[in-house]
This record gives sequence, structure tokens and C-alpha cells, in this order.
Amino acid sequence: MFRRLQTKLTVLYAGLFALALSLVAVSVYLTIANNAQQQVRRELTATGTVFDSVWALRTQRLRDGADLLARDFGFRAAVATRDAPTVESAVTNLRQRMGLDLAFLVGVDGDVVGVDPAKVDIDKLWSALDHEERAQGVFIVDGAPYQLISAPVMSPNLTGWIVFGARLDDREMTALERLSAIRLDAQVFDRRGETWVTTDKTADTGALGAVVATAMRQATAEPARLRTATGDSLVLVKRLMTLDGQTPAALVLRYPMALALAPYQPLMAAVIIAGLIGAALVVAASWALSRDIARPITALEAAARRLRHGEAAHVDVRSSDEIGRLSDSFNLMAAEIREREVRITELALRDAETGLPNHLAMEREIEARMARLAPGQQVVVAALGLDRFTVLRSAIGYALFTQLVREIGARIQVLDPEAVVGRLTTSTLCVISRLTALTDEVVPVVERALVDLAAPVRLGNELVDVHMSNGLAAAEAGGLDAPRLIEQAMIALDQARACGRKVAIFDPVAYGDPAGNLSLMSEMLQGVATGALFLHHQPKLDLRTGAITGVEALVRWNHPARGLLRPDLFVGMAEETGHIRALTDCVIDRAILDQRALRDLGHDLTISINISGRLIDDAEFADRAIEKIAASGARFCFEITETAVIGNPDVALGVLAKLNAAGIPVSIDDYGSGLSSLAYLKQINADELKIDKAFVLSLENDAKDALLVKSTIDLAHSLGLKVTAEGVESREALAMLQMMGCDLAQGYHIAKPMALEALVAFLGEQRLAETSAPAKARRRAR
Ligand code: C2E
Ligand code: CA
Ligand code: CA
Repeated sequence: MFRRLQTKLTVLYAGLFALALSLVAVSVYLTIANNAQQQVRRELTATGTVFDSVWALRTQRLRDGADLLARDFGFRAAVATRDAPTVESAVTNLRQRMGLDLAFLVGVDGDVVGVDPAKVDIDKLWSALDHEERAQGVFIVDGAPYQLISAPVMSPNLTGWIVFGARLDDREMTALERLSAIRLDAQVFDRRGETWVTTDKTADTGALGAVVATAMRQATAEPARLRTATGDSLVLVKRLMTLDGQTPAALVLRYPMALALAPYQPLMAAVIIAGLIGAALVVAASWALSRDIARPITALEAAARRLRHGEAAHVDVRSSDEIGRLSDSFNLMAAEIREREVRITELALRDAETGLPNHLAMEREIEARMARLAPGQQVVVAALGLDRFTVLRSAIGYALFTQLVREIGARIQVLDPEAVVGRLTTSTLCVISRLTALTDEVVPVVERALVDLAAPVRLGNELVDVHMSNGLAAAEAGGLDAPRLIEQAMIALDQARACGRKVAIFDPVAYGDPAGNLSLMSEMLQGVATGALFLHHQPKLDLRTGAITGVEALVRWNHPARGLLRPDLFVGMAEETGHIRALTDCVIDRAILDQRALRDLGHDLTISINISGRLIDDAEFADRAIEKIAASGARFCFEITETAVIGNPDVALGVLAKLNAAGIPVSIDDYGSGLSSLAYLKQINADELKIDKAFVLSLENDAKDALLVKSTIDLAHSLGLKVTAEGVESREALAMLQMMGCDLAQGYHIAKPMALEALVAFLGEQRLAETSAPAKARRRAR
């Protein structure tokens, strides 16, 4: 309901105060009202008593006058003789003398002298007078109440009654009101039929009449309460005796409560004003007080909100109460949270070992620089890799290696104080230089810098040599995101190492599309199943007999979308992704079928199959291949590269021995292209050596190559190996090889790799040529 504590407290305090004040005011009012009522009651009762005395006095006075006249001899005689003028003048005379309202004579026969008979209910009057010798009481004359008393006129027998009366009118009542200590209002009511009426026409006679009726019925002597539109009043109803002894008349004394309360009004006003002032003071004071209470809480709340948003959140509360202590605890907590946050951020952005910025920190730095770049400028990132780091680390230990990395980081910082240096991997540092463009001119600069960086590092007492390669990548703002840019620098590092350079700029063409490669592999596996992979065969010419004695099977892939694919595109990828085994199984199966087809056509040829280095130490593959070849009766030769053996020589040599035992000849492919080792050459129990086409292609032009080829042929022969030269593209090369004693030749000059049908046609042609000797001689001379 209340969103602010201060408002809530203020309303609460003010409300409580108002409640207390109202209770006080109500009880004061009730007490005052009660008091006033008591006082009015007393006063009414007292006035009632006074009225009784006044009534008694007047009765006496009237009686005395009446008695006086009744005893007067002349008067009695006048009555007896029915001398009306004399009677009337006597009555009038006395009335005037005594200041009476009414004086008349009622004869025993009912005659009336001294008053208009029409104004008096003669019957009623007569019976009342007759009933009691000295009757007195209220009687209505001419519609108005009068106090009447009577005295009999005896001469000597009863001849009539003298009746004197005082009018109970406003004047009379005002006189009575004046006798009272309070300003009450007196009226005489008399009953006419069922209603009580008065001659005094005040506004609420009707309501008053009802009160009178009730009071007369209940015959109470206690004041009653009357509520009317003009206000409350207390009413005392006093019975008045009527002439006929019954009581259809009453004196009504009325006092308005408002008048009784009037003297207390200043007091009540004072109470109300004091209350209002008090309430205002309480509101102001509790507003101030609650602000004092709420302020630190509000401050705490605001601080907590700031803390939530990671902003500074200190609250300044200098009280020693609970809130003060709470604030202290809060400040402590906020400080600790910030400290921890700083530590966490620090940990998240630092390499724990070297203290250098980590991968994430470098990404942020790149993003920050990108945001500041001018149009056309680039962020240049270098990935600096320690070469052969596993060897180095196992040589010097982890701790010193970390120190080494730190030292190189420091060196870079000295070379380029503006550069930001971080650590990407165990052996790779990342440098964001101040360069804003990456061109080929940068490469020599970086190469020179690498020379400085590669100066031996002193670790303890020892000097350690370091070798480093560097990959460079750059991006404009909006070109690449930070992680991709770092990735490209890392790839560039791999590319530098792959081609034996110290520095390389990221080459997107060489990198290709690795994501696409993966899908290519799954397509290749489908191709294996659907027969999209098939073989081309390249004939091998026996240089001694001039006959085609074998072919090399070279895999081809008829890709549904990309057309015919050469093996360079997918063989390496199949090796990297572990799919080379499925591919080679497929090639072997196809070669078995092709060889059978050739055999059926009378061409008995050895098929050479390329076996990837990855499969050479796979004993399971070899077992299955041997089994398959034995079962089909195929005649194959396995071409392996010599370097394939170097990886895991024990297993590889075992596999080669198995192939040997199964009668499958082995050919050493691409001899001379890798790091050839005579030791392995001796160990590999091979049948054939294929001189790499690199040497053969330049045979005619390069004397050194010719020398190498010649000595390789001699070496192979001395080891008992046959020699095939591949890449024979010209007649001259073929002739030279023949002269050098090479056994077999393979190359475009003889035949390009071809599909099975083309091979069959080629072999048919060949056979025809062989049967005509001149043709044979012609071909040899070509
Ligand atoms: P490789 O084993 O050295 O195969 C010889 C390559 O030299 C073939 O390329 C062939 O077309 C090409 N060649 C033949 N004569 C000449 C010539 O006179 N001049 C020139 N410049 N090149 C010539 P291809 O068919 O593109 O095969 C490339 C490589 O793919 C092969 O080199 C081999 O390492 C690999 N490969 C091919 N088929 C298979 C296979 O079934 N399994 C495995 N594991 N590797 C294969
Ligand atoms: Ca080959
Ligand atoms: Ca080869």
C-alpha cells in the first residue's frame, strides 16, 4: 500500500495520534454533555418547584379576592335579586382593582354575568363548580387556558359562584421564565381531543406535544429528551390540575442542550484546535523522525541496487544502532563482492601460469581495437608458436618452460612496447601489434624481429635455444569477429610450419573449406557404397621387353555435383579423418574385379595399389586385404611410401613381413621425395623402388638429377630391387632411363591413367604393335 517506509511510518504515527485525540475529545464532550444535562435537569426541577409556589401564591390571591366579594352583603343581595347590572359592575370593579384577567359570576341556574357566555363551556364549568365547593384549576376560556378559582355565593343559600381567573399566556410564562436561573422556555399545554396544544406557536409544537403526551401517560417527574431539527433539548412536563379535577393540562419547561453546552464551546474549540495543531506537529515530527529512520534503509536499498548492477555500493551511515551495524556489514559485504569480482575477472582474463592476458582477454582487446579503427584500417594479429615445444618442455621441465614463455612475452614487449601480448595455448603467444595493415612487406620485418626474439634464453644458469614460427592474420572492423581472427592467425602459424617458413600470412585458398571437407567425407562414404568411386589405370612399361606388364590403380570419384574428382582432393582428407580404410577396401575390391575382367580378355597384368602410410601399421587391415587377395587369386603390388614406415617401424615392418609371406610384392613409392633413410631401405623387404617423378621430370635438363637417378637405379639393383621411374613425359627421358638400366617406366609419354575400357583398347593396340617387329622398332626409337 505504501511504497515508502517514511510515508508508512508518518501515516501510522499520525493515525495513532488522531485516534488518541479523538478518544480524548469524545470523552471530554461526553463528560461536558453529561454535566450540562445534569445541570439542566436540576434547573428544570427547581423551576418546576418555583412554579408550584407561584401557582399556590396566585391561587391564594385569587381566592382571597373571590372570598372577599362573595361575602360582600350588597353583592350577595344583587346576586339574590338577580340584579345583573349591579353584579356585573361589582365584578368588573373588583377585576380591575385586582388586575385580574377574568372575573365573573355563575348562577346556580347556569346564568353567567361578567363574561361572554359564548366563550365559556357553561355546562362543563357548572358541573365542575357544583362538584366541589371551592374548585380551582385550569380551564379553557375563549380557546386559551386560564387558572380559575371559585368561591360560592351564599345568601344564605347557594345562589352562584364567583370565578376569578388568571390567564396562563405568554406574559405569564415569560414571568415564570424570568424566575429561573437558566433561560428556559415555559408553555402550558392542554389536551383537545387526542392532541396536546399550546397557544405558544413555536416551530416544533408538534414534536413537543408528542413528548407531553408520553410524559402525561407515563406520569413521570423526570425531564425527557427531545430531538428536533433545531437541536436537542430537555423537557420537563408538570401536570396542572384542571378545574374539573382531571389533568388534561400540563406545564412544559424546555431547555435546549445547545444553550447548556454553549459555555463549553470555547473549551471544545480549544481542544479541537489544540488537537489539530498537535496532529500537524505529530505529522511533521513523525515525518522527520521516519525520514531519519528510513534514510539509511533507503540508502541501503539504493546501494543494494547499485551492487546488483555492478557499481560502487558504499553506504554512509554513522549511527551505532542496528542500522549502523547493518550498514557496516553491508559495506563489508559489498567490498568483498567487488574484490572477488575483480579477482574473478582477473582470473578469467589472465593465464594462470604466466600471468599474461589469456585467449578471452585477447579477444576483448581485438574487439576494443576494432571499435576504434578508422575506415580501411585493420587489426593485425600474430600467433607466435614455439617450435617443437613438447620436446623442449620435456627437456627443460614445465616450470622452466613457463618461465621461458614469460621471458619471450617480455621480449616482445621490449621490441614493441605498444603491442599487447597474450597466451593462446601452452606454446603459442598472441601479439596484437600497432600495425594497421597487413601486407607482404610486413613479412621480412617480422622475420627480422623473430631473429631477435630467438636469441638464447637464460634459464637459471643455462642458455636455451628457442625456435619460433609466426602466423599473421588481419581484419577490418566488421570483417571478422575476434575469435575467428585469432583462429586465422593460428592457422597461418600451421601453414608457416607446414611449408617450413618462419612467417606466413593466413592463406584462405590453401586452408580451403574444412567444414565443407567433413561433408565431402560423408559424401565419399556414400560414393563408396553407390559405386561413384572407381579406378583409372596407368600402364607400366617393361623397358627390357617393351611390353605392358602392369598398371597402377589410381582412384577417381565421380562426384554427383562436382564431376570427376582427382585423388589429391580427397585422399589426404580421408587419411586425416580416418576414412582411408574404407576407401582402400573399396579400391581393392574394384581392382579385383578389374583384374578379373582384364584376365578374361587375355591381359594378365599386375595391379599396383597405393596403400596410405596410415594403413601400414594397421595389422587388421593387412590381414583382411591378404585374405581377400588370396581368396580372389588377384595379383597385386602394394605401393607404400618409405616415410610411412618411420612412424611406427616395429608394427609397420611386421605388417610388411606378413605381406611378403603372403606373396604380395611391395613397392617403395615416391622414393627421393621424403627423408630417405638407407637404414629403412635395407629393413623394408621391398621388391620395387619407384623413383619420384620430381627427379624424372627434369631428367633431361638437370645433370645432377640424372646422376641421382642413375645412382638410385644402381643402389636399388644392388639391393635386389626392381626400379620403376614414374613421371616419364618424354621420349628423351624414356631413352635415358633405358640406358641407365631402369626396369620399368610409367608416365604420360607411355599412357595417361585411364578407365578400364580405354585400357583394354590401349592394350589391344599394344599387342598389335608387338606382333609387327618394325612397328616395335619404330616405337622404341621414338
Ligand atoms: P602417386 O601414387 O605418385 O600416383 C602417380 C600420380 O602421378 C597420379 O596422379 C598420376 O596421374 C600422375 N602421373 C602419372 N604419370 C605422370 C606424368 O607423366 N607426369 C605427371 N606430372 N604426373 C603423372 P593422381 O592419379 O592424381 O594421384 C595422385 C596421388 O593420389 C597418387 O600419387 C597417390 O599418392 C594418391 N592416390 C591415388 N589413388 C590412390 C588410392 O587408391 N589409394 C591411395 N592411398 N592413394 C591414392
Ligand atoms: Ca603410386
Ligand atoms: Ca609416386
